[in-house]
Amino acid sequence: MSTLRFHALKESLKRVPLVINEKQRRSEIFGSNVFNETAMRQYLSKHALNGILQAVEKGTKIDRVTAEHISTGMKEWAISKGATHYTHWFQPLTGATAEKHDAFFETTDGGLAIERFDGSQLVQQEPDASSFPHGGIRNTFEARGYTAWDPTSPAFIYGTTLCIPTVFVAYTGEALDYKTPLLRALQSIDSAATAVCKYFDKNVRKVSALLGWEQEYFLIDNALATSRPDIVLTGRTLLGHSPAKGQQLDDHYFGTIPSRAMAFMRDLENECMLLGIPAKTRHNEVAPNQFELAPIYEEANLAVDHNSLLMDIMQKVAKRHNFLVLMHEKPFAGVNGSGKHNNWSLSTDTDVNLLSPGKTPMSNLQFLTFFINTIKAVLTYEELLRAAIASASNDHRLGANEAPPAIISVFIGEQLTNVLQELESVTKGKLSPKEKTDLKLNVVGKIPEILLDNTDRNRTSPFAFTGNKFEFRAVGSSANCANPMTVLNSIVAKQLIDFKVEVDQLIDKKSMKKDDAIFNVLREYIKSSKTILFEGNGYSPEWEKEAKKRGLSNNKTTPEALKVKIAKSTIDLFENLGVMNKVESQARYEIEIEEYILRIQIESRVLGDIARNHVVPTAVRYQNILIENVTGLKNIFGDKFKSLAQEQLTLIEEISGHIEAINSLVTNMVDARKLFNNQGDINKKAKGYCEKVKPFFEQIRYHSDKLELMIDDELWPLTKYRELLFTN
Ligand code: ADP
Ligand code: MG
Repeated sequence: MSTLRFHALKESLKRVPLVINEKQRRSEIFGSNVFNETAMRQYLSKHALNGILQAVEKGTKIDRVTAEHISTGMKEWAISKGATHYTHWFQPLTGATAEKHDAFFETTDGGLAIERFDGSQLVQQEPDASSFPHGGIRNTFEARGYTAWDPTSPAFIYGTTLCIPTVFVAYTGEALDYKTPLLRALQSIDSAATAVCKYFDKNVRKVSALLGWEQEYFLIDNALATSRPDIVLTGRTLLGHSPAKGQQLDDHYFGTIPSRAMAFMRDLENECMLLGIPAKTRHNEVAPNQFELAPIYEEANLAVDHNSLLMDIMQKVAKRHNFLVLMHEKPFAGVNGSGKHNNWSLSTDTDVNLLSPGKTPMSNLQFLTFFINTIKAVLTYEELLRAAIASASNDHRLGANEAPPAIISVFIGEQLTNVLQELESVTKGKLSPKEKTDLKLNVVGKIPEILLDNTDRNRTSPFAFTGNKFEFRAVGSSANCANPMTVLNSIVAKQLIDFKVEVDQLIDKKSMKKDDAIFNVLREYIKSSKTILFEGNGYSPEWEKEAKKRGLSNNKTTPEALKVKIAKSTIDLFENLGVMNKVESQARYEIEIEEYILRIQIESRVLGDIARNHVVPTAVRYQNILIENVTGLKNIFGDKFKSLAQEQLTLIEEISGHIEAINSLVTNMVDARKLFNNQGDINKKAKGYCEKVKPFFEQIRYHSDKLELMIDDELWPLTKYRELLFTN
């Protein structure tokens, strides 16, 4: 009998939900482990507090003396909460978060000790960074890396450690993390959008990008998950036959949350409250054992930090509940994968959501300006947006087995489609007073505040307008949101800059009125942006054909998708906006392509190992049992055995066929790997892994899954899909 699988099953059946205490109101504990404004008022001088608030609101620098005051207050607060250590907390390009703890403790003369944490320790650290991905930046410049405090994301305590959100950069200034380019992109959307807002309201001083992510994940019993080497090492199942019942009955979505999962969620949400992560929504997702957590949206930088932090604490909390969280985009073949919708909007310091239709024609013209510019930006940079969500794991969703497709398109709904149609026929040049009044009253002024057809209805659209925000749905569940957010905010910033230039030209050179100029530019944008608008089923062969005709990209694999990251247009875009220089763009491309190769390489090795060391020996063992049986029948019945052992004989032969196929496929896969491992050019290597190594996965799986169906259940060593997915 296969011991590990059955031992794991036994363990998993003994589980009971943990008891979670929720004695205090959530509103009372919210943010209690965060050095937020309330804590700062208590622990900082007025001067120090103002220093931080100014830095957050206006991006001003915090001087040394002020930093000294802040660090002292922060330390006192942290120690009062039981913290013993501090760490600079950052997001290197591994995708995970990084931290290195130092104690506040320091010795002094005479064998005594004190607690110390000064301004310089708050502001800057030098983690030994040589093992973080850098894409050649450090080699080229021989630069060390350092972390620098990001005061726009508040410090927090996790466990007994004060965590200080920081950026991570090389000494030569190149970004080595996700946060640095994001902060720069947020700055550029702020200045570009603020400039455009001034057409409508002179009082606007700042525009912030807002992000509300929706994190999907699977919860799998710990014992069951660890009985599968593929889950442990790659985060997904490489083998496994679909269970007789999957998600076809649609009985999981929004269903009752199983009690163990519920206890996990409550425990997790408790942690979220303490850390100031505004967790709001929880529900079952489409697949069995798949769930979602969504917070209230926040300023994008903070939201990104909160998502990274959440992904980290989810695993820790899950351990207490004997669960493993699978963040992988496609942990199970044949059941729904996981994404992370990025809900995005722009908001002014006067509290106006620029992507929400308003009450007056003027506010609606402002809404349309931002709405249409976003669509135009997506059209111009659709390929770059696709690249921003490319990864080996997300390839299983995009354009492979499920929606959304690898083709980027925008869904806007019927009502707004009609509005755009009307605007398209606006007169060229100056508008007559009658036309303008008519437009404002009957078109722009008639946009309802609540758009009825902009719900979650079209789930196949990768980029949908949902009433007061755009929802970038193609983002993968395991991704750091900083990457797509950097790209989205950058491309919209660039588009808004271009828009302003065009409008100003019409005002200055053609002496048009502001509104006339805006209508004129928007009309042209609507005409040219139609190719990106698509309301239909994004996951259909017809759309693929249609999209091709329209000239939209359809990059199904990561190596294909990433190429645009080093195209001149991309490098120029980021360089001109000050988001990334050429070296940074190239380094990121290299890191991502390298990561792709490594992921496929690991999966290939693990698959080869499981196939040869688990599947084939089990098949041989079962075949021997059959042979023994057939030999016995022959001994007893003589010539008659053939008719009696027909079934067994067929099985013996079929098993041999599958064993033979697996062995030769694994051999060929290993040979392909060897061939491309010697390839010096990483682009060719990635292409080789993608086109010549990865295709073996499905073929090997096919034979293994067939064997799974034939072999005695008691012998099968790998925990089955039905056990992984339906034990909770
Ligand atoms: P659902 O998509 O499940 O119907 P919602 O669309 O209401 O739910 O919200 C999903 C996510 O969108 C949540 O994280 C929410 O905070 C976020 N969200 C709502 N409004 C905005 C907005 N104006 N800007 C950014 N995110 C938003
Ligand atoms: Mg949504």
